[in-house]
Amino acid sequence: MTSPAFPALIPPGSTIGILGGGQLGRMTALAAARLGYSTHVFCPELDSPAAQVCTAITNADYTDEAALARFADAVDVVTLEFENIPLFPVEFLAARKPMRPGPKALATGQDRVSEKTFFNGFAETAPWRAVTTLPELEAAVAAIGTPAVLKTARMGYDGKGQVKIMPGDDLAAAWASLRTDNAILEGFVTFTKEISVIVARSPQGQTAAYCPVENVHTNHVLDTTTAPAPISDALTAEAMRIAGTAAAELDLVGLLAVEMFVTADGRVLVNEMAPRPHNSGHWTMDACLTDQFEQLVRAVCGLPLGSPERRCDAVMKNLLGDDIQNWPELLANPQAKLHLYGKAEARPGRKMGHVNFLKG
Ligand code: AMP
Repeated sequence: MTSPAFPALIPPGSTIGILGGGQLGRMTALAAARLGYSTHVFCPELDSPAAQVCTAITNADYTDEAALARFADAVDVVTLEFENIPLFPVEFLAARKPMRPGPKALATGQDRVSEKTFFNGFAETAPWRAVTTLPELEAAVAAIGTPAVLKTARMGYDGKGQVKIMPGDDLAAAWASLRTDNAILEGFVTFTKEISVIVARSPQGQTAAYCPVENVHTNHVLDTTTAPAPISDALTAEAMRIAGTAAAELDLVGLLAVEMFVTADGRVLVNEMAPRPHNSGHWTMDACLTDQFEQLVRAVCGLPLGSPERRCDAVMKNLLGDDIQNWPELLANPQAKLHLYGKAEARPGRKMGHVNFLKG
């Protein structure tokens, strides 16, 4: 399906539609308001973090055509705040309003096999094989070796839908535990660092990238981001080349976050991408001239992109579950900038907010 030609520029005063109501949508809506835009959030959940701060909300299932049609009529441009969304609403909306990013970036990133195939056109990844049956898994393990990681090809996030395969492991049990017939086996990377780069791209093709940052995960969930990543200039340039090339090749409009491994022998291997604001970009809210959420608004509305320059170094820490109880101490720290997401219930492991510690 070819999309109708839409204007690049969506001026202030217009309404930005946001698919998804989580904290990323919330922070996008706040940034949009600062530039004079209204926001309309579409999400199935009733009391979402974004609903508390947006101008209008549609609570409906992502496959509800009547609700999607009304939403399309009410907005001037649509973006999204999470990528594990069915393609149907994105294609439906793309036929009616500028959908930024569009279905291509989303489809490529939703499937680890298409994602790895895409990146292998211009970057290295861990060795991998698509796996759809137990015999294919056995052949992939024989080819790649162990340790390795078996992942569901679709809908995985934060380490969910993954199983590590060690030498001598029962492959039939590992295969059964994944409960899918669409998977990928990746060689296990002994990385020295995990890094990410977020790049913005406008409908006019202008790009602006933030510096690479180092991410530390605990139990597969992001714990801290250090900006900038303590890596060489050559690795910085390579990581930024990969992210910039990916955004251009996808013809992406919006933000693209690319997560990568750095190996001991100085290589950068792509792990995965997300065509949206990213947790590893939250430090930009207090440490950069233009933060990732304002940059997303600028990109999807065809405004000139802002400077991604760093005003100071920073460390972002996620506040999970009861970490949020530390708010008085964090507010008392003059170097700490606190961001809370308005979630009522502090369940263990739930992202409740984050804090940016500014250096100098
Ligand atoms: P993912 O859902 O692919 O982002 O994986 C979550 C986390 O698991 C990553 O951030 C890494 O810490 C780890 N991981 C994923 N894939 C690999 C791999 N091939 N080798 C080593 N660690 C991995």
